[in-house]
Parts: sequence; C-alpha cells; structure tokens
Amino acid sequence: MSKNTVELDATRSCLPHVTHTSDILVLGAGYAGMTAAALLAHEGKDVTVLEAHETLGGCASFFRTGKYSFDVGATTISGMQPHQPAGRVFDHLGLTPNLIKQDPGMIIRRQGDDVVRWADKQTWIAEAQRHFTGDQAGFWNAQYELEQRVYGLVGHTHAIPPTSIGELLALAAPSMLSNVGLLPGLVRPVEVLLKRYGVDTPAFREFIDEQLLISTQNSAMRAPYLTGAMGLTYPSETYYPIGGMVKPVLQLMRHATAHGATVKFRRAVTSITQRNGMWEVMCANGECYHARTVVSSIPIWNMQSLTGDRVQRYFTSKASTFDRSWVGLTLYFALDGVPKIPSTYVQLYLDEPIPFVHSGSLFLTISHPTDNEKAPEGHTTVTASTHALADDWDDCSPEVARERKQQIIDGMLALIKRRMHEFEGMQMLHVEGGTPQTWERYTGRYRGYVGGIPHDIRRPLLTLPPNKTPFDGLYMIGDSVFPGQGTPAVMMGAWNTVQRIFDA
Ligand SMILES: Cc1cc2nc3c(=O)[nH]c(=O)nc-3n(C[C@H](O)[C@H](O)[C@H](O)COP(=O)(O)OP(=O)(O)OC[C@H]3O[C@@H](n4cnc5c(N)ncnc54)[C@H](O)[C@@H]3O)c2cc1C
Repeated sequence: MSKNTVELDATRSCLPHVTHTSDILVLGAGYAGMTAAALLAHEGKDVTVLEAHETLGGCASFFRTGKYSFDVGATTISGMQPHQPAGRVFDHLGLTPNLIKQDPGMIIRRQGDDVVRWADKQTWIAEAQRHFTGDQAGFWNAQYELEQRVYGLVGHTHAIPPTSIGELLALAAPSMLSNVGLLPGLVRPVEVLLKRYGVDTPAFREFIDEQLLISTQNSAMRAPYLTGAMGLTYPSETYYPIGGMVKPVLQLMRHATAHGATVKFRRAVTSITQRNGMWEVMCANGECYHARTVVSSIPIWNMQSLTGDRVQRYFTSKASTFDRSWVGLTLYFALDGVPKIPSTYVQLYLDEPIPFVHSGSLFLTISHPTDNEKAPEGHTTVTASTHALADDWDDCSPEVARERKQQIIDGMLALIKRRMHEFEGMQMLHVEGGTPQTWERYTGRYRGYVGGIPHDIRRPLLTLPPNKTPFDGLYMIGDSVFPGQGTPAVMMGAWNTVQRIFDA
C-alpha cells in the first residue's frame, strides 16, 4: 500500500514507515499558523507546518484567473505600528512587508453622500462633524484614547486570558492594575458611549453599526466598547499590501523555512491524539506526525471532530458556548480600466435588499493603480464581501446553492453598477462569486464560519477559548480563540502562544 493511499482510521496508531517527528507541529498556514511558525523557527525550534490546502493564507489567501490575482477574503492589514501586534511580529523578525498606507483609510458611500475616513484624527473628526450631530469630537477622542490604552495594556503580558493562579497574579502587577478602569469596556457596549456623547442619532447609529460589523462582527448594541474602539479607529491606520494579503504571510513562510521550518501543503489533518506524552497527528494521505507540542489554528468547531475523549469534550464544550459565527458572501471581478477613487477600500451601502445578505453594506477592495501584481497596467481587480447567516445555507442542495449564488452575484453587480460611477465605461471581466459552501470547501471551516467569534458583551473577551489548552503541549491560535478575528488579532494570539511555549 502506498503511503499516499492509506485508508484513514482515526483510532488506529501510525504506520511506522510514514511517521515524521518534529519538536513542534503547527496546523494551518494562515496568518495565525505562519506567524507562530516564523516566530518559533526564528528561535531555533524544529517546526513542521501542515496545511490542508495547496497554498497558504487561509481566509487571507488568493486565487488567479487569467492575468489577474484576487484576494479571497481579507484585503487590508492594520496593527502595523511597532507597539501593535502585526508591527511587533514583523519588526521582531526583521521583515518589512510592501504596504501602502491608505489615506483616506476608507470611503463610506451612503445613500446620499460619501463619508471619508481620513487617517489624521483631527481631519477625520472635522469630517464626522460635517456629517453627524452631537459631540463628535468627544466621541472620537474617547475612541482613540481607548485604542491607545488597550494596545498599551496588551503589550504588557502574553498570559491573557490567565490559565493558572500564577498568570492571574501576574495580571495583578501594578502596571496592569493601573488599567483596571478599562474593565467595564469589556462588558459594556459601544452604545453606552453613543449616549454619553449625545451622538446616538439614527444616521450615526447606522454608520457605527456598519463600521463595527466589518471590524468586530457585531453592532453598537452588542460590541464591547473596548474592542469597539479598536474596530472604529482602524481606518486611521490601515494598509494595502502590494500583491495581495498573501504577500506578508508569504514573507512569514519564507522566514520560517529559511530558519529550518518545513511547510507541507495538501496535508489535511484528520486526527489529533495524545499518546504517551506525545501528540500524534494523522493526515488524510496517511502520513503521521509526532511532536511534543502542537499549535493548532484549526477552528474550535472543527477541532471537535479531529480529537477524541477528554480533548474532544473540551472542544465540544467550547464550540457549544461559542456556537455562532458569521459566514461570508464574496464577489470577484476585474475591470479593463483604472477607476479614479481616493481609497482602495469602499464600504458601499445597499440601496435595496440583496437575497441572503445580512448586512447593510458591501466592502469593496479595489486594487491599487500601481499594483501590477494583481492586475496588469490599466486594469483593476475588485473583491467584494459581506455577511450572511449559516442557517440559510444548511441542507442546501448543490442546485439550490448555485441558483442562490447567481441571485447574489446579480444583486451585488447591479448595486455596484448603480452606485460605483467610477467604474462607468469599464467592462467587468472574470466575474466569480463565493458562498459559505465555497468557503467551507477551500478553508475547511465548519459550516463556512469565517471572521471568528463576534465580539459580544454577552461573551466577554477574556472568556474566549484561551491559547493554552488544559492538555499538555496543545495550544490553540487563530480567529476562533483569544483574542479573536482579524489578521492583527491572530498574530497577537500567535505571539502570545509562542511566549507561553517558551515559558513552559
Ligand atoms: C471575507 C473576509 C474578509 C476579511 N477581511 C479582513 C481584512 O480586510 N483584514 C483583516 O485583518 N482580517 C479580515 N478578515 C478576517 C481574517 O481573514 C481572519 O480572521 C484571519 O485571516 C484568520 O486567520 P487564521 O490563520 O486564524 O485562519 P485561516 O485563515 O482560516 O487559516 C487556517 C488554515 O488552516 C487550514 N486548515 C483548516 N483545517 C485544516 C486541517 N484539518 N488540516 C490542515 N490544515 C487545515 C486552512 O486551509 C487554512 O489555511 C476577513 C475575513 C473574511 C472571511
């Protein structure tokens, strides 16, 4: 029997001739997994990465059609300042991603006008005052101050959420206690601040809800105001990666392999078992890997079906506590022209409902005119994404899914043609759509759940599944565990996890 055709039985132990041993196995080659692998390899650890797909990036990956390259999902990177998670990782590894800072960070195209998210705080506040009433300066100054304080706080420790008495005591250090005043912001919603600053009008509430949905995956009524502040200020400091979101993660992979790591694609993990103090990880192709330490970026919902006994019970309990996530609808097309638009990012409000869309807007990413890695000169690529509900897609036959996908593509294209006058006179080429089923197929994510666990006052941040599990040598990273979704957050989770591995 060839090792690539071994039939899988998750309860069986490894075949001796296909066993590989490493110090550390990293599961998944998205932003979380590749950050962990690069940091570990940088410190001389023997690391093997197992990735199910044929390429890296996960939700921040890409695909090519003709002469175009499209980001599949994530398109913008933030948290790049030296004290912020992505900046800290790249600086530590001596890497400089090829990024273009966006100013404005985003255009919000509402029914009647464009709101411009200027990068500079004062210029943005003046813009907000032009569009909305109430104490806009007070509200936005509070957001920026909260954001600064949160980054100051999370830079102090990697042991959050605490998983032992020792870690809890470390949190009681004077430097941390001075931030105790921030705690209410974990359980009180953004709407508290809307009311405090007298800005809670229907128009501003709609604006804030749409901004929060793309950053915290929740609304002003439910998003805690601490993480809300990070979501609401990110357009002031956001970057377009030349060549696509896959480029920075490719740099991480190259750094990891240059420092001795092995990255194996087409290795779908099918079981993770602890035997005699070692973790045994089996792949669909029959290969088997042994390591003392496993760092998994496979979402908690999938971990239930890859594990057994008490490990499985742990993940089942986490998955049932955090049982909801959004799913995504995406649209991709190229243009045979270069639209004149001041930001690569546009939040486009819906002017009429689009079937199965559960958001009031589409998020459009228009490739930068100088980015000839995504489109040849004189051409452009566009990725559009929005939120949907998994329940709408359960038990949906392939024919029904195809019909729905076409309805969604038609609805999104019609909206874009009506409202993106900058695209007039250009042909839309290579139109493709993505449904939750597409996402499930390409990323392996249960039900197509993407975007991580929504930040919610009913499930405070510190109760998210921790990076350190109760099982010796098994760590969790990625957007279904602390500190949640988005590339900077998963990079922070990977950084903290690597520190914990060195502490162990
Ligand atoms: C439409 C959309 C737009 C977004 N926009 C942004 C944005 O602009 N900016 C931003 O910062 N964030 C954005 N996000 C969120 C961001 O993409 C994710 O939070 C982040 O990329 C998650 O990284 P990860 O490594 O945790 O997970 P993933 O990217 O899902 O990576 C996990 C990897 O594990 C692999 N894998 C899964 N199962 C197995 C298995 N059994 N065996 C082996 N490998 C396996 C997958 O193939 C995948 O490569 C967006 C997300 C979506 C869906």
